[in-house]
Amino acid sequence: MASIRELHTQLVKKERSAVEITQEALDRIQALEPKLHSFLTVTAQRALEQASAVDAKIAAGEEIGILAGIPIGIKDNMCTKGIRTTCASRILENFVPPYESTVTQKLANAGGVMVGKTNLDEFAMGSSTENSAYQVTANPWDISRIPGGSSGGSAAAVAAEECVVSLGSDTGGSIRQPASFCGVVGMKPTYGLVSRYGLVAYASSLDQIGPFGRSVEDTAILLNVIAGYDPQDSTSLKVEIPDYAASLTPDLKVGKKLKIGVIKETFGEGLDPEVEAAVKSAITQLETLGAEIHYISCPRFRYGVPSYYIIAPSEASANLARYDGVKYGLRSPDADNVLSMYTSTRAIGFGTEVKRRIMIGTYALSAGYYDAYYLKAQKVRTLIKEDFETAFQQVDILVCPTAPTTAFQVGEKITDPLSMYLNDLMTIPVNLAGLPGISVPCGFDSKGLPIGLQLIGKVLREDLLLQVAYSYEESTNWHLQKAKIA
Ligand code: GLN
Repeated sequence: MASIRELHTQLVKKERSAVEITQEALDRIQALEPKLHSFLTVTAQRALEQASAVDAKIAAGEEIGILAGIPIGIKDNMCTKGIRTTCASRILENFVPPYESTVTQKLANAGGVMVGKTNLDEFAMGSSTENSAYQVTANPWDISRIPGGSSGGSAAAVAAEECVVSLGSDTGGSIRQPASFCGVVGMKPTYGLVSRYGLVAYASSLDQIGPFGRSVEDTAILLNVIAGYDPQDSTSLKVEIPDYAASLTPDLKVGKKLKIGVIKETFGEGLDPEVEAAVKSAITQLETLGAEIHYISCPRFRYGVPSYYIIAPSEASANLARYDGVKYGLRSPDADNVLSMYTSTRAIGFGTEVKRRIMIGTYALSAGYYDAYYLKAQKVRTLIKEDFETAFQQVDILVCPTAPTTAFQVGEKITDPLSMYLNDLMTIPVNLAGLPGISVPCGFDSKGLPIGLQLIGKVLREDLLLQVAYSYEESTNWHLQKAKIA
């Protein structure tokens, strides 16, 4: 599938119709899904209707927006009115939301065509998409491997060209890590830039919706449409949204000489040597483009994973208390009183990882343990934020690998939660500090699996991050390689 800009030109010049473009995406979905399993629900009819509406506008001589007629995948934890939204959980198997999330509403208003709802780890808890109650999504570069997670379906669908762009959510790395594993671009915006209204809550102080694309420009265009203040989300930021896509230029001129900080601590133990080599040559490339490279220390970075795995489960245990068989989705049939209805519904409705997190979170929040665990983790969170603040006094952006490895085999880590959690070592601190981060393709390992470079920016400097990512991308060919399955 072509880029957003190319498709837009074809539409405006009437070389192709939106229905034809949508049909191309739907055909690819039909051909690839038996192997890929990236969609939980395909909304073919609605997609063709949305596409026809765009065609009607073009026929009537009306102007169309840049996203009009573009096939988009939506992670199945964003509410879509009248369309099943499962969070890849049994407990929401038949949940049809009575309302639309702000982001999907914005996409629809812009003429975007939703082709379906993509697979994820149940309630976005995981790093491999294997925690889905329904199916395991394959990595488009090697179908014996996982696509990363939790937004694995959205990343795989874009890499396999089942859609042009997609939305994911990122609580501790769930956009950037699968982007890295699938060889696409994925961005986690500043906390509060994109409305969370209608995003099923996992850990509310960390969750953020963001875009996937096969190029930085496609990613920037999608971000432009979804960003902005929403009175329905109390954490939404009231800020001007710049035109991220319009200002992209291939050269790295960003006013003054760009200072890039390499986070020293991310090059330690556990980092795959091939990932290290690719990221280091990307840093050299940025230097060639004119950036000044500094080596920066973030000493508390390594406490990210332990503090995250107190804070996120604590918030999750509170957020998931609402699934009790009364208000939403599944209700256990074999219960003779209210209490057993609650407990048996949750026993059959939630998967193992979700239960593990609810138990950890409930424990950490309980009287007597709150100070020792939850409060302590919150203090560590502040220290991590301070590390970033100190670093950003010296440099404009930070870089490091997105993940310590490339995509692993299906089943490789699923029985070892700790090694699964450690995969998010380099992405989690960014969520704890509420900063924007982006992963861009920066090479392949000897097995032909994609490697991602993570760029981290100051609060609300998505514009700079995208610009640097774009300059880098334009000076390389990584993003032009096609996944095997595509
Ligand atoms: N893998 C991390 C977790 O399991 C992050 C998930 C996410 O960002 N949604 O919590």
